[in-house]
Amino acid sequence: MDLSINEFMNKIKVRNAHEPEFLQAVYEVAESVVPFSEKNPKYKINKILERMTEPERVIIFRVPWLNDKGGVEINRGFRVQMNSAIGPYKGGLRFHPSVTLSVLKFLAFEQVLKNSLTGLPMGGGKGGSDFDPKGKSDAEVMKFCQSFMTELYRHVGADVDVPAGDIGVGAREIGFLFGQYKRIKGEFTGVLTGKGNEWGGSLIRPEATGYGVVYFVQEMLKARGDVLKGKTVVVSGSGNVAQYTVEKCIEEGAKVVTLSDSEGFIYDPEGIDTAKLRFVMELKNTQRGRIKEYAEKFGCEFFPGQKPWGIKCDIAFPNATQNELDDTDARVLIDNGCICVAEGANMPSTPEAIQVFEQAKILYAPGKAANAGGVAVSGLEMSQNSLRYSWGREKIDDKLKSIIQQIHESCVKYGTEEDGYVNYEKGANIAGFVKVADAMIAQGIV
Ligand code: GLU
Repeated sequence: MDLSINEFMNKIKVRNAHEPEFLQAVYEVAESVVPFSEKNPKYKINKILERMTEPERVIIFRVPWLNDKGGVEINRGFRVQMNSAIGPYKGGLRFHPSVTLSVLKFLAFEQVLKNSLTGLPMGGGKGGSDFDPKGKSDAEVMKFCQSFMTELYRHVGADVDVPAGDIGVGAREIGFLFGQYKRIKGEFTGVLTGKGNEWGGSLIRPEATGYGVVYFVQEMLKARGDVLKGKTVVVSGSGNVAQYTVEKCIEEGAKVVTLSDSEGFIYDPEGIDTAKLRFVMELKNTQRGRIKEYAEKFGCEFFPGQKPWGIKCDIAFPNATQNELDDTDARVLIDNGCICVAEGANMPSTPEAIQVFEQAKILYAPGKAANAGGVAVSGLEMSQNSLRYSWGREKIDDKLKSIIQQIHESCVKYGTEEDGYVNYEKGANIAGFVKVADAMIAQGIV
């Protein structure tokens, strides 16, 4: 069995040399899927996993734009169209200096399985740029977005590929991108999700990823006869996902004690309450400030250059970015009594950290299951756009909850081990894989 994974990985390594994040994501999935396809040879014969790890298409393009001083700036734009077996390509755009082809291929690959888990008809893709919106004026961000879409428009469409936000791409960027698409194409369609409410966006889309991660944790706890109420929670990040994770935790009676950004983390032993959360939302979303201002404002401690994993907690939400939690952090969390880790970010735990969680048999939910609420509500936004209609808050929140419950069930179905421990990583990988694999087999060698 080991040899088969090694043989497979050697092939993938040759084909994707110098793409460490992508290889990490593929290996993590192969560990679950290769043994499964050995027992179900139709997937092996059809080389499904090998086909799934080769993008259907990758578009790389120049993004030239003028800064406020009139100087010429150049960035690189990408769109990875990974898999369209079960629906149009779907996945966010990330604008961050760390963006490379490797990062976007890992995200696109994860997105294929995540979107499959939602039960909605969405294929997987991801895109973005090494552009850094931090420190740029609104006018510069607009000029960049317009230039980015001036190339991207020919590769996307409501039934072709539907991008959305990710790190560095929020409501402001989606607005500029949508405006430019509409101007070039001359049509008003649901080509992007995460749109403003007045112009085709869905209610609950901004909240969906954060709420969904909390709903997923509630499902995991329920399966162990436990509840979220009264738990102490550590959250990393302070962007969209982190903010709505905190909001839902407060609503459900848990105490959130940390938030972070690239400069460090704040520790508020009193717990972040609704008023403090409003401050964070205003600080991050409108002023685009730094989280250390929270510590100055509310008189708590700020730990520069550190991550929050050393703070004692029951539940940890790594909600910032990939590989932000390693095996040393994982051991510290467990030694401090943490019983549950749910990933709001994509691949925030290193493979070694995941091993530590699974050996300790704590509840561990990988991003592709735990954070699927965001793209699920994006799928609902697509449905509403097709219907030329919009649903109310309650209806969407109910749908989100039931999608998360169903993802949890799929993980339990495919991830329960002999001793009864639910390996959510294995469950999510296999459940996500099976649906896409069956569609690929039905559609022939394409
Ligand atoms: N970027 C989000 C994710 O990682 C959402 C993608 C979408 O809504 O299309 O799933």
